[in-house]
Parts: sequence; structure tokens; C-alpha cells
Amino acid sequence: MAANKRDYYEVLGVAKTATEDEIKKAYRKLAKKYHPDVNPGDKEAEEKFKEASEAFAVLSDADKRKQYDQFGHAAFDGTGGFGSQGFDFNSAGFGDIFGDLFGDMFGGRMRGGAGGGPMKGANLRTSVRITFMESIFGVDKEITLNLKDPCPKCGGTGCKPGTSPKMCPKCDGRGQVVFTQQSFFGTVRNVQSCPDCGGTGKIIQDKCPECGGTGYVTSRKTLSVSIPAGIFNGQSVRLREKGEPGVAGGPRGDLLVEVIVSPHQIFEREDYNIFSEVHISYALAALGGSVLIDTVDGKVVSDLKAGTQTGTRIRLRGKGVPAGRGSSVRGDHYVTFVVDVPTKLSKEAKDLLKQFDALTGDTLNEAGRMEKHGDDKDREKDKDKDRKKGFWRR
Ligand SMILES: [Zn+2]
Ligand SMILES: [Zn+2]
Repeated sequence: MAANKRDYYEVLGVAKTATEDEIKKAYRKLAKKYHPDVNPGDKEAEEKFKEASEAFAVLSDADKRKQYDQFGHAAFDGTGGFGSQGFDFNSAGFGDIFGDLFGDMFGGRMRGGAGGGPMKGANLRTSVRITFMESIFGVDKEITLNLKDPCPKCGGTGCKPGTSPKMCPKCDGRGQVVFTQQSFFGTVRNVQSCPDCGGTGKIIQDKCPECGGTGYVTSRKTLSVSIPAGIFNGQSVRLREKGEPGVAGGPRGDLLVEVIVSPHQIFEREDYNIFSEVHISYALAALGGSVLIDTVDGKVVSDLKAGTQTGTRIRLRGKGVPAGRGSSVRGDHYVTFVVDVPTKLSKEAKDLLKQFDALTGDTLNEAGRMEKHGDDKDREKDKDKDRKKGFWRR
């Protein structure tokens, strides 16, 4: 499936560097051309529309776009992708565009009609803190918050049991008021939610004692939120229909849980890659050998080349951040070696190090000697003498 899939940028006909706006514009053009409502029965148009919508769903979402840029179509394989669940035409980007394209006919239906009809409840926001490791592999968290429910005593009407609300005289029960305004373009009709009844079209005279006429009761609820692997700090998880109750039988709003990821002591993250430093001894750097490296999967043993310099970076392929829950595609882990110069040396260690330096070509204290002996021949002689004696100037 992934093999002959067209590149999303190519589908929309935009550059890899395209801005959000350019992507939106390109999609709007294609959607207008290929929308099934405009091309009834045209299978090819339908396919094109689907293809463009999928490309837009990914490229208009900053996080999905990042995943796609790093991993290509593979980022969405094995995670269900879009194939099984279809698109979320309710997501912000689509709502905007179809609202623009098809006006109230389509947009209104998606957003829930105003004025007495069923309306989706408002979205709620909260946050949860997780550890770095939890952000890498995903975690289920419980969150506790105050949630509104329709009042059980009045069934959400807000009226004292046995009474009923009366029709709002200001809007005649429509929930909306229309006023006209003169503008540059001529007369503009503005529709607003009725200020007297708050858009419900009803006025409550005898308030329900349980909820005080609001129709809602608030209680403390604990919800489980499933945080996917690879989530970024500040990204939100959407719990559908866990927000404010809907109006007049409409669905509840959503709960958006912002995920705050605590920093890690060793690991740092950039996109889907992990970075860390590993300190090695001077001797190990010089001689080479094997070194233990902490990764998010646990310790791994890596070969260290003899003569490794400080600042040398190696890549551990596939030890980075998964591209999503259940995804086998992962970023990489980059390790930078830092060679530690010993600071506390025993006398014996110092003597050995001096001998070592003499053996390896007298690189220490060169400046001191040059001061004393300007002549190159003298210097060479002196070096030999120093080597034999183990003589050092400090
Ligand atoms: Zn009530
Ligand atoms: Zn009213």
C-alpha cells in the first residue's frame, strides 16, 4: 500500500517548505474541484478527493507533518493510520475549509445548528504531567476533574419539577435575534444568540432547587487517558465527548488533555531522535574497547574505536522515539563521547602518566623548553636526556 502511494506534497502540489496557509489554499482548490457533491458518481474524482484529504489531514497537522517529514508514509503504517478510522472531518482544519466552501449547507451541519437545535457541548481543557520515559513508550494515566452532567432532578431543563419553562418573549423562542447593520458593503444582517434566554429560547420561572436553574450538576470524576507513544511535550490528547454536556440532545464536547513531559536527566529529545552524552576515561578513549550506553531500551554495549576524540558522535539506529503507539518505525539515538581528563591523581598514577608522555613523544611542556633552548639541535638532545631521566619542568 505504501509502495505506490504518492508523496503528500506532490498530491497537494506544494513545496516541502510550504506554509500552513499555502497547504490550506492548495487543498481548498483541490477539494472544490473533486468534492463528491460536485462530481456525483465520478469515481476518479472521489479517489482524488480522498487522496487530497488524506494529504491535507497529515500536512495541516504540525505533529503529523513532522512525522511524515522524518519517516514518510511509513510513519502511519501499523498504527491504523487513516485507513481504518477514516478522516476526522470535525478537526479544526476541515471544519474551516468546508465551512468556507459549502457555507451553511455543509458547515452548519458539522458544527451543530444554532438556535434551539441540538448543539455540541463546549470543549474542556486540562493537563497531565508524565515522565520522559512515559512519553517515549506511551502510558495510561488517570485524571480527576470536575465534570458537568445534566441535573438528575430536572433532567437538564433547569425547571422545578412539575413546572415548565415559558417561551422567551424577546426572541419568540427562536434563541436568536437578528439585527441589521450598515457597513461598507451595504446592509448586513447579523444573527446573534438571544441575550435574554442565552440562546435556549426559553425562560425559566421556577428554578430547580437541585441545580439552581442551570440544568447541570458538577461532580468530581476520574477518567483514564491513554497517552500514545512518542507524544511531544505540550501536545494534547483528545477524549471525545468528555467535555461539557451538549445542548438539546447534542453530543458532549471533547476534553483536551495537554501532556507536559518532565525533562530527563540524561536524554534529550529533538523530533524523533534522542541525544545523550557519555563520559569515558582518557585511557579508554586512547585504547578503545567497549562502552556501556544508556538508551531508552536499557543499556547497550557499543564498541569504542582506539583514539576516540572528545566530541565524537555515534548513531544508535532505531533507539530513538517511536513514531506512534505500536509503530515499529523509530528515530535514532545520538551519543556524544566526552573524554574526561583526570583531576585527582595518586602519586603513582602521576608518575606513570609522566612516563607515558615521555614514551609517546614529549608533547607536554613544549613551551617551557622552547623558552630555554632556541636551537633545534639542542632541543632534540635535550629531549633524549629528558626521556632517560624522566625529567619534568612544571
Ligand atoms: Zn435541576
Ligand atoms: Zn430569547
